[in-house]
Amino acid sequence: MRIIMKNKKSRILIPPGNTEHILLHSCCAPCSCSIMETLKKNNIGCTVYFYNPNIDTEKEYELRKEENIKFAKKLGFDFYEGDYQQGSTVWAEYVAGFENEKERGKRCSLCFEMRLYAAAEFAFYNGVKVFTSSLGISRWKNFDEVCRCGIKVASKFSGVEYWINNWRKEGGSNRMVEISKEENFYRQQYCGCIYSKLTHYD
Ligand code: SF4
Repeated sequence: MRIIMKNKKSRILIPPGNTEHILLHSCCAPCSCSIMETLKKNNIGCTVYFYNPNIDTEKEYELRKEENIKFAKKLGFDFYEGDYQQGSTVWAEYVAGFENEKERGKRCSLCFEMRLYAAAEFAFYNGVKVFTSSLGISRWKNFDEVCRCGIKVASKFSGVEYWINNWRKEGGSNRMVEISKEENFYRQQYCGCIYSKLTHYD
């Protein structure tokens, strides 16, 4: 893993423990782009971890992943992909019983938990002490719930901490829209799982 060395004094954004390098769980390029840019500007090294078994089709998955790889590469960040298999029962089993919940409900909490658990595990086994996620930046998500799940899963791995930072603030949400336009990112119409197709984004 490449560690970016920097002058800590130049940072405005300080991760827990003033750590040099964090892991970012990413759900897609539009949600993670302004976070990556902010990290870069603050001289914080980042490994992007793409683990999203919730995405309903391989086509959609590859589209989101490839865009994310391209943008991470542009900023010089490493990119790792977790397991994915279209039609896999792993994610479906995790949210079983809550299929009909509305977005922001129990199904989403379980979905966050599953993905963030994998991110915490990846961080642990790769010696990264701090991780965070792009999941909370979307206005479609409950930020506090994403943080609760992050803290919960981090507690399973000794020495790993979830970084609570509201990436929507300090212009993060606006910058997310700007970068998405500049980079001509694919505009996804739903969160990712088959059930979220019932809730189209505007
Ligand atoms: S709506 Fe999004 S966060 Fe909620 S369960 Fe589906 S994929 Fe996961």
